[in-house]
Amino acid sequence: MGARDRIREFFITNVGKILTTQQIRKVGGISEYARRIRELRDEEGFQIKTHVDRADLKPGQYILETLEQRPVISRTISPQLRNEILERNGFTCQLCGAGAGDPDPFNSNRKVRLHIDHIKPLSQGGTNDRHNLRVLCSACNQGKANVQPPSDTALNIIAKIRKLPKSEQLEIYNILKRKFEA
Ligand SMILES: [Zn+2]
Repeated sequence: MGARDRIREFFITNVGKILTTQQIRKVGGISEYARRIRELRDEEGFQIKTHVDRADLKPGQYILETLEQRPVISRTISPQLRNEILERNGFTCQLCGAGAGDPDPFNSNRKVRLHIDHIKPLSQGGTNDRHNLRVLCSACNQGKANVQPPSDTALNIIAKIRKLPKSEQLEIYNILKRKFEA
């Protein structure tokens, strides 16, 4: 029996009970128990909840709420849909406003990479429906940049402008153009 099987059985035997990282690690006998739990959730539809899903759980606590398995939704987003979302969001991160090719604010050797993010995570019943998808940069996708720097530096303001609809960007462009051409 593999680690995933042992962890699955442990959750099923303890359905409705809070389990801890230590217990699960002991049963699984591996350090990558977190990945096994993700697989049970995403590939098998088990409704395993964490502190991210439920305020009454502490970090490191897990609970299998019910034996009912959710229908599994593929994580794969077709290239067509991916392009559609990128176009719709103007190839711009919807949290920080970074665009593809901008320098990565967390690693100056790299350029920003854009991801398609599920607004409501698949693990919480979100779908691949286009309304549940948006563009995020790698940093925001990993939750590193979820706090916008408070200072109004030129870069921050540009990031804000890039998130505006095209018509408003054009308005700002025209104002600045008039100013500098005068
Ligand atoms: Zn971002």
